[in-house]
Amino acid sequence: MSITGKFLAQKWNVNSKHSLYKKEGNWYHIIEDFPGAYFDGNGYVIFDSKSEYDNNPYLQIGETVHVKNGISKMPNYIRVIEKGVNYWWVNQGRTWEHEYNGGFLWAPYKNSAGRPCWHWDTMDELQKGDYVFSYVRGQIVSVSKVKGPTYKSQKPKEFSDWSRDGRRCDVVYKIANTPIVIMDHLDTIKSFLPTEHSPLQKNGLANQIYLVQLNEELGEYLINFFDERTLFYDNAQIGQTEDVEQVILKDDGESKRRTITVVVTRVVRDTQLSKDIKRKYDYSCQICGLVIKTNTKSGKYAEAAHIKPLEKDGDDKENNIICLCPNHHTMLDYGSISINDDYTLLGADGELHTNHRINKDNLKYHRDNIYSKNEPH
Ligand SMILES: [Zn+2]
Repeated sequence: MSITGKFLAQKWNVNSKHSLYKKEGNWYHIIEDFPGAYFDGNGYVIFDSKSEYDNNPYLQIGETVHVKNGISKMPNYIRVIEKGVNYWWVNQGRTWEHEYNGGFLWAPYKNSAGRPCWHWDTMDELQKGDYVFSYVRGQIVSVSKVKGPTYKSQKPKEFSDWSRDGRRCDVVYKIANTPIVIMDHLDTIKSFLPTEHSPLQKNGLANQIYLVQLNEELGEYLINFFDERTLFYDNAQIGQTEDVEQVILKDDGESKRRTITVVVTRVVRDTQLSKDIKRKYDYSCQICGLVIKTNTKSGKYAEAAHIKPLEKDGDDKENNIICLCPNHHTMLDYGSISINDDYTLLGADGELHTNHRINKDNLKYHRDNIYSKNEPH
């Protein structure tokens, strides 16, 4: 597709009625409608009115318009920086579970000697949409997506170290279906490591740093380990609403996109019953078998999922609860998967492995009311 002014105006959200593009930015046709704008490959100049345009000293208006040194030299030129995705690495040994549960990253402003620390200050460079890989004890266990810029926030009450004043960044964590064991991929990873500010030593052990940016090669290598379905939901943590674009395959084989709004009504409840179920399965997901190792007392992390949601009068009883990894919990709550009476899955391959009795009425409720909601009609 060839680039046009109209295309760039849309892409960069420029409110102009007549938009013209020339790559070099040094000559254009005359603008006929205002506000109007001239674009080059990196930015644009907008003219609010015809008189502002006609009297602009940088434009030589004849049959066409000549711009002597190109529009990029004009004082009101707006340079558009198109940002790619940035990849980051965060070392979260002891804090991963708290930060995961709260959906954030946090770092103090100063160390005990009262000095700032470069690998904490990197927090302020995080931008919406960036990916942050969580390194916990030799493995990348999750990737999180940054929701917005960092803001000032006091130390979370669960943290015992560090001074009180710090900054927080809200993120959405996505758990790896299979954690990336660094030692298994060390040769490849090593070839991507920078000489300075590297998250890992050449022997694969972590450096004592919190947050560091990765180069694109390493970031793209690591992101490939994450299932696309995992990255699909942008806010699939707790208590969120979001618009999700779905690709629907129609009967004639053509696909079309549509946007649906999904409400995430997941609330982390850890009742005794939930704990019992999780222990019964030794924190292993009943669908995929994943066990997430943590530094907590139990040493493991899983979630208790209600088949018929409590919000819909589902029972807080053993026969309505299963032990799942965060991904499968999310998929179940969103209705992207459901469970048949014979425990095979709807919407995905695989089955629920269960050795406690499940209430089939609740399975039916889930299939009819939660799963089918996201089906094309
Ligand atoms: Zn799972």
